[in-house]
Amino acid sequence: MPIYEFKAKNHRHSCPTCRDGFESLLSHTEPPPSKCPDCGARVKKCISAPNVGASTSGFDDRAKSSGFHKLKKTGKGEYEKLY
Ligand SMILES: [Zn+2]
Repeated sequence: MPIYEFKAKNHRHSCPTCRDGFESLLSHTEPPPSKCPDCGARVKKCISAPNVGASTSGFDDRAKSSGFHKLKKTGKGEYEKLY
């Protein structure tokens, strides 16, 4: 199951939990969190990819502009290699 990382959209509205990002396992029955569980700030979804170091920002931008489904498909392929 893929692990997703959620980070605060706005650092000025964040707490220690979401400012640095928190990870969440997404199942088919649970909707992804759109808010930080601790402070309620709006969060954005980033895929947690331990092997991808430097070039995550471009990936993130593409995901934002093309919607979550493309990100999920791409990320899923990568995760299946990892696990
Ligand atoms: Zn928070």
